[in-house]
Amino acid sequence: MKKQKIVIANWKMKLNLAETIGLAKEIKIKFQDFNKGRVVVCPGSLSLAEVSKIFKASHVKLGAQNVFWEEKGAYTGEVSTEQLAETGCGYVIVGHSERRKYLLENYEMIHLKLKAVINSDNLIPIVCIGENREERKTDRRDFVLVDQLHQALGGINILANQKIIIAYEPIWAIGSGVAIEPAEAEYAHKIVKLTLNDIFGIEKANNNFDIIYGGSIDGKNVKGFAKIENIDGLLVGGASLNAEEFYKVARAILK
Ligand code: PEP
Repeated sequence: MKKQKIVIANWKMKLNLAETIGLAKEIKIKFQDFNKGRVVVCPGSLSLAEVSKIFKASHVKLGAQNVFWEEKGAYTGEVSTEQLAETGCGYVIVGHSERRKYLLENYEMIHLKLKAVINSDNLIPIVCIGENREERKTDRRDFVLVDQLHQALGGINILANQKIIIAYEPIWAIGSGVAIEPAEAEYAHKIVKLTLNDIFGIEKANNNFDIIYGGSIDGKNVKGFAKIENIDGLLVGGASLNAEEFYKVARAILK
């Protein structure tokens, strides 16, 4: 069966509540006659409950930007998988590079978070990997991706019905306005695929994983990514803050 591609919006901490609700409503209207592929929006955590109401009975699904690895307890300020599922989330971003940079989140933590999400059985994790500028310059990109995948996924047992999305996001491309060349993303996705084959075997790597690209995608450059077979979708930051631009991206990639 052919995979359904996915487009995920990451609104980061860019909008207040009124702006979030306004944009969610615009997106709901834009997508009301659109039923191709999968569309996910990840607003800030304090607006999840409000946005969940807006996307109810819509093709657009809700995702969160972060989660904690413990189920419950004295973890001030953290959010659990159960709490996210209760607010209507079906997806959660794990280990975004901005959290790796500003909150020193590392792949040990990402591994724990991923395990918690998989065990919760009601959220699909979007696990972020990707090299920084220095690693790219010094030709260590392939090694970095393989290492990040092993650290995040090693020893994780996934059941037949569990899905994981791997978002390849070269850090230097995020928010820069310059996306990677589609052919280079295609190459990086091959590295990811081969590593998943190594860790989980070819069947699980094919059936349980999606590999998506993120980094300065917009309504114009998306066309180059739409043609590539081994890109299962896109994670979109800046361009997802405009309903028309996000719709353009989705329409180009979701067939
Ligand atoms: C992101 O932050 O995941 C992202 C892809 O951002 P942008 O599209 O703005 O580069």
